Amino acid sequence: MPLEQGRVSVLDRGFIFGDGVYEVIPVYSRRPFRLAEHLRRLQYSLDQIKLATPHDEAAWTRLIGELIARNAGEDQYLYLQVTRGPAKRDHAFPQQVTPTVFMMSTPLAPPDPVLKASGVTAITAVDNRWLRCDIKSISLLPNVLLRQLAVEAGAMEAVLLRDGFLTEGAASNIFVVKAGALYAPPKDHLMLAGITYDVVVELARQDGMPVHIRPIAEAEVRAADELWLTSSTREVLPITALDGQAVGTGRPGPLFQRMDALYQAYKATTMRG
Ligand code: PMP
Repeated sequence: MPLEQGRVSVLDRGFIFGDGVYEVIPVYSRRPFRLAEHLRRLQYSLDQIKLATPHDEAAWTRLIGELIARNAGEDQYLYLQVTRGPAKRDHAFPQQVTPTVFMMSTPLAPPDPVLKASGVTAITAVDNRWLRCDIKSISLLPNVLLRQLAVEAGAMEAVLLRDGFLTEGAASNIFVVKAGALYAPPKDHLMLAGITYDVVVELARQDGMPVHIRPIAEAEVRAADELWLTSSTREVLPITALDGQAVGTGRPGPLFQRMDALYQAYKATTMRG
């Protein structure tokens, strides 16, 4: 149905408690990108919040195919959310759960070439979120406030630090390049296991770039030769200024150029199916 005709109960636990999980899936040339991985992460999030999946993988795949087909545009991004549905307001789970499933498609434009050519700016912020950032929860108020801090500082993203270590961005994962090697924090309960993060790590390894997955201290973030942010809709973008200081040379670096080429080539192969 047209988006503006969608209706959800005011008693929906998604609305009342933020009790739900979501996914964002890019679609290129009408083919969902890394669909199996997105569906696996959705199942992980559902399992973590103890919500039985309303659809198995085959049914999700069919629904997603139908949503893509019914919408215009070769490139789209799908937003999919599952909440614990409407119930009398009580924190504890209801006896009878009828999950609310909402899916929408939005046209997807590739990242602005200007952003890739000049890079984006970021600020650092204390990661004041909860300890289950591995769940792709719709309760995003901390992320909303952190991203707004960045916007108010004239920056695109907030790079989050917890106890002196890098976690991720407010809506992205963060990579550090130093002396020709790529560094990323380990996937744990303090960050979302990004689908793009996995693609970047895979592509870097295939290309022979040294990759180190380990905790990254704040000082290493500030001394980086290059910083990247990754997300499904923004792909890989170079961060060229952090807290008003140039990152490395202050220009997108050679490893970014290489990774962007690898990423575009990888996208092209999945578009051909
Ligand atoms: N971390 C957070 C907090 C996010 O919201 C996102 C997605 N916007 C990511 C990481 C990146 O995940 P993905 O590559 O799967 O889009």
